[in-house]
Amino acid sequence: MGLLDGRVALVMGVANRWSIAWGIARAFHREGARCALTYLGEREEENVRKLAGELRDPVVLRCDVTRDQDLDALREELRRQVGQVDVVVHSIAYARTEDLRGRFLDTSRDGYLVAQNVSAYSLVACARAVAPLMPQGGSILTLTYLASERVFPNYNVMAVCKAALEACVRYLAYELGERGIRVNAISAGPIRTASARAVAGLSDFIEAYKERAPLRRTVDQEEVGDAAVFLASSLSRGVTGQILFVDAGYHIMGV
Ligand code: NAD
Repeated sequence: MGLLDGRVALVMGVANRWSIAWGIARAFHREGARCALTYLGEREEENVRKLAGELRDPVVLRCDVTRDQDLDALREELRRQVGQVDVVVHSIAYARTEDLRGRFLDTSRDGYLVAQNVSAYSLVACARAVAPLMPQGGSILTLTYLASERVFPNYNVMAVCKAALEACVRYLAYELGERGIRVNAISAGPIRTASARAVAGLSDFIEAYKERAPLRRTVDQEEVGDAAVFLASSLSRGVTGQILFVDAGYHIMGV
């Protein structure tokens, strides 16, 4: 018996084998869920379709979260192909490379808005689009990072996005709670993925975790996937509006 037997999970944000979203999809698959994966565009499509071949009865759909028409089409296609959705994973972020290095002070208005649109507002847009497919309640989860509350040089505009994203989690949890939809975030330690490599000095972050985290290491996609299974399953039925740290304990440290 899997913890997610008979459940349908929409997993948004797989780009390649290293994506955290792929770690989550694999864990959901292991626990019996049927997964629908979305990909951003042509560049990701081949990878994602190939990965989906490792899942049972997968659904693969294109969706750029900055386009409302894509989100509406996603809902209608999901309605047609799977009917109801139990779990939504939002594992999506983007900021221009020049805004992930140098001075935060130099962030342009446009760069700031692009990053907020893709990385924080999109959670609200996705929740609004897909909630009608969750008439019996469900679980929505997103991915955040400790830079939302502490300074990690170079994380810059993305840190502000994560602070906004975490506030979105709390407001969505409040409003969707009466419909039995829970909304939570996983705050993951640094993992070498395409997005993380865009942040200058990623290796320094990882070294800091090896030195200072209680477990003396960072985490991997599989560990995040296992925590996501908890948040997606009825084991966490009393949990909403939370930020669950899967970071080898780094966030508890003072020095
Ligand atoms: P990743 O690059 O594999 O995933 C990011 C995904 O966002 C990609 O699939 C990309 O296609 C998608 N995306 C970007 N713009 C999009 C758009 N307009 N529409 C739809 N999709 C879009 O990197 P990842 O590290 O797996 O990132 C996943 C999430 O985890 C992000 O929110 C990231 O901030 C968060 N996170 C990552 C780390 C880390 O160290 N890797 C740590 C904590 C949190």
